[in-house]
Amino acid sequence: MSSVTEQTVETYGIDNWGAGYFGVNRKGNLVVKSPENENLTADVKEIIDDLRKRGINTPILLRFPQLLFGQIRKLQSSFKRAIKEFDYDGGHLCVYPMKVNQNRAVIEEYLREGSRYNFGLEAGSKAELYAALALEQSKDSLLVLNGFKDRDFVKLAFAGAGAGKNVVIVIEKMSELDHTLALVAEATAENPDAALPMLGVRVKLYSKGSGKWEKSGGEAAKFGLTTTEILEVIRQLQDAGRIEMLKLLHFHIGSQLTDIKRIKNAMKEAARTYAKIHQMGIPIDYLDVGGGMAVDYDGSRTSFESSANYNAQEFANDVIYVIKTVCDDENVPHPTIIQESGRFLSAYHAILVTNIQDEIETIVVNITPIEIKTDDPQVVRELHDLRETINAKNYREYYHDALENREELFTMFNLGLISLEDKGKGEVLFWDVCEKADQFAQLKKYVAEEFDELRRLMCAKYLANFSVFRSMPDNWALEQLFPIIPIHKLNKKPTEYATLCDITCDSDGIVDKFVDLHDVKPVLELHKLVKNEPYYLAMMLVGAYQEVMGNNHNLFGVPHEAHIFIGEDGHIIKKVIYGATLADTLMTVRFDAVNLHDQFRRAVMKRIKDGQLSTKEGTQLIEFYENQAESYTYLTPNGS
Ligand SMILES: *Cc1c(COP(=O)(O)O)cnc(C)c1O
Repeated sequence: MSSVTEQTVETYGIDNWGAGYFGVNRKGNLVVKSPENENLTADVKEIIDDLRKRGINTPILLRFPQLLFGQIRKLQSSFKRAIKEFDYDGGHLCVYPMKVNQNRAVIEEYLREGSRYNFGLEAGSKAELYAALALEQSKDSLLVLNGFKDRDFVKLAFAGAGAGKNVVIVIEKMSELDHTLALVAEATAENPDAALPMLGVRVKLYSKGSGKWEKSGGEAAKFGLTTTEILEVIRQLQDAGRIEMLKLLHFHIGSQLTDIKRIKNAMKEAARTYAKIHQMGIPIDYLDVGGGMAVDYDGSRTSFESSANYNAQEFANDVIYVIKTVCDDENVPHPTIIQESGRFLSAYHAILVTNIQDEIETIVVNITPIEIKTDDPQVVRELHDLRETINAKNYREYYHDALENREELFTMFNLGLISLEDKGKGEVLFWDVCEKADQFAQLKKYVAEEFDELRRLMCAKYLANFSVFRSMPDNWALEQLFPIIPIHKLNKKPTEYATLCDITCDSDGIVDKFVDLHDVKPVLELHKLVKNEPYYLAMMLVGAYQEVMGNNHNLFGVPHEAHIFIGEDGHIIKKVIYGATLADTLMTVRFDAVNLHDQFRRAVMKRIKDGQLSTKEGTQLIEFYENQAESYTYLTPNGS
């Protein structure tokens, strides 16, 4: 690797957040490595070039099922190792929470690999359960049901048990137990040996997680039963003679748990609860520790929101060790541990690639050199003075003076005291001062916050052909960071600082926080745009939550999608799924393309009848309009 390449790898932090799955090849292109053999790689730029040749334009979501497999194996082997190391008697099973990414391709690929380890599914709604019931799971895997349930939900669970699935209904509210007991009576009335679902209870723990989702845990949490409620569930099950249905104790203290200490505390509390229930003579088999294993999006290995201060092995070790210690202390058998990790499994496998469409000018630059005359207004002359004499010592003070001068400039203009030309001159001088102040500020070891802000103002704004709301909603809603990186030119030093604007008409549609090892970067190092040469960026680690949480703001629909296999000869494009067309996204707001076509045609026909359009012109208009219904919602080069 050339030293420039090494440096860009470091600039973008690829080795910090990449979990070993990504790298840069000799051409300076981003590659994805096969988890089984890191010598097998797929060149992301070549994949995009191939797809473009087939008429598939960016943005494109690339899915690498092998990375999903890699994460499944990492999770499984970490627990296997911990179980061995600590002489743990129970097993470990995973159920994939469908809400993290319900795309059929993701679920089917997960089950294909996960079934080798008896990994199952977790559903939190009727729709998720409905799909899960039809999917083939391995015989010994579980189907765990969380979330609030009505009678139909519970009845679907019974249908699953009837179809031979190992369904576990986790009771979140007392009413769910009422439905369950009623349906048990119904199911066993005709056939006393009818297959019944298993039951679980979700406990409300006192322990909280850490990070953005810490509200999911603690006493005030939305989910879970209090101690008295759990005792009530047990009493009612005993009264109904159905206590043997209770097989699982569940908790989930939140997603993206950044701090291992908090996790250990929750494990202790939950293991104690499990032990006490066991001592009541109720042989619960499973302790479900929920999800929450974090992804280190910024690669800093800290308890920062977008990071985690542990890896998979440390997580597994702590879970196994804590549960074993408590169980041994209480003299109860070690339960089989169920894990509901979604983010950890699916974040890595998807990458969104898009092109930079253009650059947006926001700062005022002088087109012709500024000439200062003695009769220029004083405010303009002052700004000129600041520009000429700003230096490394006074830049901070001068920057503040310039801010004041600019205020004055606008006030005077609004009062009609200065001309349009003077205002123009003043603006150019102001931005010149800013540019110099920014340069001096960046030379300092510690850059004050106001200059971070200035840097954001000064830097280039690259217009990226995507919608933050559609493809990276957590960046907009929660300020969660995702690594962003060019997929080519990585053997050349990026010389520009830029933030990204998306193509929605929403000023929130920007990305101006970027991953960094020590901090959050206000700007991203990128390459200078070259006219008529595409420049592609990849938004990394977007495989968890982003796709399904994304919305149709401005009617930008789901992007094209390609499934990639990494083999001996590089990449193989296994499948292409076309993204939404204009007609598709309009359908989501109940506009039917056929009706729109009729209405448009009527308007054109009227113009023809009135002699304002020739028949030929009118026909062409109609044809063009109707064809556009099938086009991509994003910007495309030279029409589509
Ligand atoms: C969302 C959720 C999960 C998944 O959490 P991750 O952070 O994606 O691992 C697991 N269990 C329950 C009950 C959930 O609500």
